[in-house]
Amino acid sequence: MTIVDAVAEPLPRAVVDLAAVRHNVAHLTKLIAPATTMLAVKADAYGHGLLPIAEAGLEAGATSLAVLEIPAGLVLRHAGVTVPILAWLHGQDTDWRAGIEADIELGISAAWQLEAIAAAGADRPAIVHLKVDTGLSRNGATREEWPGLVQYALELERQGLVRIRAAWSHLADASIADDEAALAEFRDAVVEAERFGAHFEALHLAASSAGIRMPEARFSFVRFGIAAYGFSPFDDSTGAELGLIPAMRLEAPVTEVHVGGTTHVRLGIGWADGVPTLGIAKTSIQLNGRRCQLLAVEADSMLVDAGAHRVEVGDTAILFGPGTDGEVTAEKYADWAETIADEMVTGVAARVPRVYIN
Ligand SMILES: *Cc1c(COP(=O)(O)O)cnc(C)c1O
Repeated sequence: MTIVDAVAEPLPRAVVDLAAVRHNVAHLTKLIAPATTMLAVKADAYGHGLLPIAEAGLEAGATSLAVLEIPAGLVLRHAGVTVPILAWLHGQDTDWRAGIEADIELGISAAWQLEAIAAAGADRPAIVHLKVDTGLSRNGATREEWPGLVQYALELERQGLVRIRAAWSHLADASIADDEAALAEFRDAVVEAERFGAHFEALHLAASSAGIRMPEARFSFVRFGIAAYGFSPFDDSTGAELGLIPAMRLEAPVTEVHVGGTTHVRLGIGWADGVPTLGIAKTSIQLNGRRCQLLAVEADSMLVDAGAHRVEVGDTAILFGPGTDGEVTAEKYADWAETIADEMVTGVAARVPRVYIN
């Protein structure tokens, strides 16, 4: 029997520049001082890779981390991360005890979560951040539920089962007026809780948007997500205009070249890798120093028109990046594809290797 080695297909790559992440985190942290940075590394650090990003962020001045669910916090703990980690997305199968005993701080928005903590049998009190809804209607106690939640937490605190560390909320970023109203609502809820006897070491409200443009919303720390990856949270400015550097460069190899009246080039990346299928007619891809019109996106490849330009199999195309080699940013690509940069980078499939530089 003869075994013939298939030629390995060249892979697309997401090159992540850790120096860009460090730059962004340092830049944002300086902007909000004396408030500090809680770096949001949810969704595998917006597709950039949980551990390398957490490490880079902490090196650059972030003092705590935010994940969605306890298991992501445990991954960080097992890797030796010792800073505060906040997790707030809990479900029926949440392992509360594991979270509490790993000192994962818990965002709490409902009484059932406190009940689960009380029943967890952990060897130490749970550190909780009580979350009030200030208009977003997403994962926070309503103002009607808030007094009950606070009083229940205080009762468990007296029993030594929880330690109340913070009150927090999340802004909708819909309009300045909405955010101002939510800020007032948040302040009200804090005062109300304090009247019941709650004592908060920390208050936090802002994500990237309010963290940058609404100084009065910064409180103890800002939960920076998208800005730390180099993108603007605003429609009216780019990341570059805010002094940020996009950290991810998405590259794909040229796998076929068809020379006819015009050169059609196939790239080894497609929608199964997270490339959007919307806005193809508007989209161009950077290849050998020029922009090439995108013609089609298939499951694991895409076709571009290289015109009369010279292209060879093995050349590398850039779909998006920091913009330093003539390529567009993920913000621009997202405009073409009618989405946002957050989705462009987080959507890069897990099968695309992340390669770290700097
Ligand atoms: C994702 C998230 C953040 C970070 O938001 P960005 O807009 O990406 O900065 C902060 N807080 C909460 C609760 C989040 O879910």
